Amino acid sequence: MFVDKAKIRVKAGDGGDGAVSFYREKYVAAGGPDGGNGGKGGDIIFVIDDNFSTLIDFKYKKKYAAQRGENGGAKHCTGKNGEDLIIKVPRGTLVRDANTGRIIADLSKKDRQIIAKGGNGGKGNSVFKSPTRQIPRFAKPGFPGEEFELSLELKLLADVGLVGFPNVGKSTLISVVSQAKPKIANYHFTTLVPVLGVVKVEAEKSFVMADIPGLIEGASDGIGLGHEFLRHVERCRLILHVLDVSGSEGRDPREDFDIINRELEKFSPDLAECPQIVAANKSDMASPEQIQELREYIEEKGYTFFEISAATTQGTSELIKYISQELDKLPPIREYEPEEIPEEEIMQKEDERKRITVRKEEDVYYVEAQWLEPILRTVDLDDYSSLQYLQRVLQTNGIFQRLEDMGIEEGETVDIHGFEFEYVK
Ligand code: GDP
Ligand code: MG
Repeated sequence: MFVDKAKIRVKAGDGGDGAVSFYREKYVAAGGPDGGNGGKGGDIIFVIDDNFSTLIDFKYKKKYAAQRGENGGAKHCTGKNGEDLIIKVPRGTLVRDANTGRIIADLSKKDRQIIAKGGNGGKGNSVFKSPTRQIPRFAKPGFPGEEFELSLELKLLADVGLVGFPNVGKSTLISVVSQAKPKIANYHFTTLVPVLGVVKVEAEKSFVMADIPGLIEGASDGIGLGHEFLRHVERCRLILHVLDVSGSEGRDPREDFDIINRELEKFSPDLAECPQIVAANKSDMASPEQIQELREYIEEKGYTFFEISAATTQGTSELIKYISQELDKLPPIREYEPEEIPEEEIMQKEDERKRITVRKEEDVYYVEAQWLEPILRTVDLDDYSSLQYLQRVLQTNGIFQRLEDMGIEEGETVDIHGFEFEYVK
């Protein structure tokens, strides 16, 4: 099965927590703090693998997570970094943030790209020693790893894309000019997967041609099959538009030509801008008048016209030579630039991260904030200096103010993620 679209979830590893630990040795009364830092969480890395040609693996496995960094240890031991998670993708995979459509990476030239970064480890308590704080009983939690919902889209890398109605002879053409062996038959939609063929022009010169499954009218609106595959033409440097000049199926090739071009334009204005060459195929079955009529129509519109017969290879080598010369003048295969995260999105994420909810239920004030959880995890709540530290965190983040605003009284109970204490003004 050919799959060229998929949605997956990736989560880079969280950083490990810093350690709370004190130096211990026989006969040494109170050693200094020696808690090490947490390790970094593993990254999610995408790597191009040319053995893959579809995104089928992602239909079955949808969730990917890299390893967490290990927590720090005693004796200034830094926790081990989490292992990176390597995800192999076919060349030409475009990676977007599924929620915003933002392009994160294009895996077409650069073989290896970090898609989600692992969180850094938290600092161990040894870092928090100061003249006034000799025994810090708290450390910093690790930072969370990046997490994304991704949409993957395979956009094949080909110099030339074949387009045209079903049965006009596209597959036949690619099979005679390259080593590609697509299915050829006298019925519509024989080509259900795009086929790439390397066309050798001279000993050292070649280009890649893609046979795109047949387009029909309405393809860009989702009728027929073509729309599924139009994205594979988007990177192409040149479009070779194949027509059946003999009209063997009762259609007028001039109309076919206009219909397909309208479809391309509807799908993407970029595609309509792409340079196009016309190959009038099945000329072996056409009358000289038919060929002349079509030639005039096409040339009047400003396109270069070639008369060929893919079945007998008549005219195909001239066509290939011309295409190769044109390609020399055209820019390289399109690569997509990663897009910056918009300012609002960063702020929105930050807001979400910082969101604090306070609610009162049966005389208890419940404080909830995602970012507080790791801090509570790493603070020793039985220790005075740790509590002071937590108090400072609550103060600077406006949590006490929020409680005051809700009318909290001295002696009432506050619950922060299960940690309860009595409020003191
Ligand atoms: P596609 O759907 O555009 O890929 O068309 P195919 O390459 O599968 O060809 C459709 C039919 O047209 C097949 O039966 C081919 O043998 C036939 N065909 C292709 N090229 C020519 C040609 O130049 N002359 C003739 N007479 N028939 C051709
Ligand atoms: Mg075909």
